[in-house]
Amino acid sequence: MIKFSHKKVATTILDPRENFSRKEIKTEIRYDPLTGASCRLAHFGMITLQKVDFSSWDTPENRSRCPFCPPNIEKITPCFPPEILPKGRLYRGETTLFPNISPYDQYSALAVMSHEHVMPLKKLSRRILKDAFCAGLEFLKIVAGKETDLPYHIIIWNYMPPSGGGLVHPHLQIIASEFPGNLFRKLLEQSKHFYLEHEQNYWEKLCSIEKKQDKRFIGERGKGCWLASFAPLGILGEFMGIFPEIHTIFDVDENAIDDLTDGLVHLFKYFRSENIYSFNVGLFFAPSGAQKYFPMQIRIVPRTFLNLSERPPDINALQMVMQEPFAVVHPESQCAKLKSFW
Ligand SMILES: [Zn+2]
Repeated sequence: MIKFSHKKVATTILDPRENFSRKEIKTEIRYDPLTGASCRLAHFGMITLQKVDFSSWDTPENRSRCPFCPPNIEKITPCFPPEILPKGRLYRGETTLFPNISPYDQYSALAVMSHEHVMPLKKLSRRILKDAFCAGLEFLKIVAGKETDLPYHIIIWNYMPPSGGGLVHPHLQIIASEFPGNLFRKLLEQSKHFYLEHEQNYWEKLCSIEKKQDKRFIGERGKGCWLASFAPLGILGEFMGIFPEIHTIFDVDENAIDDLTDGLVHLFKYFRSENIYSFNVGLFFAPSGAQKYFPMQIRIVPRTFLNLSERPPDINALQMVMQEPFAVVHPESQCAKLKSFW
């Protein structure tokens, strides 16, 4: 029913490192068990991640230029009109939520997560994360109460420059839309298809199979089941938190956010041990009507510069024009290491 399909291809070279003797190099092609989208596992061991010192970015000059640092945030970030948010912005703990001045959609908000300009992973505590995600959810619920024709609710996060984040000051992006984007749309379509064909929820099945096989099953945290993706989207793999009992934004209470942030802080401990200091996050909620086949889920894709001298990004023609992700790591070996941090 759920297949983890893969194929291996081999290249033969005469290797200059070993006196031009014959050498076989393997590439593995994997197919996502839900969408069928392919990806490659190749270049193993070709990227050595190095620690980056963030403290050099946290200067008075950088803070004074940053729109998210106090006191700038109150002066130069926009407000929502009163019919959306009577106070213009939402506040919770250190989080301030306001409209993106360069929106991606009709409702496109930013949730600045901290007063501090630079927040290395170890400072992203449960409290900081919870306040930011809760503020994002509160905003999505307010919008859903006013706009019933925007079914798709998404929270995304570009953390640190390799992820494409333009500002190091940590901030979530919150989107309510009638346009889910390609991946979310594909996940919804295929989840529905699976449900209609097998009369089962794909995600519940995936969690139980992964738990049984115990190759990519990281562990559980409250209501969340955490996995290393079989067919990862990023060069350093991809991690998923699936919440089978939680579906739309209205199912999400503070306990669910506690479970989510608990999973994230454990994942971040692993990231720190591996010198992973940047990532993209997508948190997707079921639209109304999709509760039977689509649970809330978070995907975390680590990002990196390929090296620190020229700082090439980790996305090249393979991903851009072939739309083919490739990873230099094995999800199974990442998962085995991750378990000791869980
Ligand atoms: Zn700042």
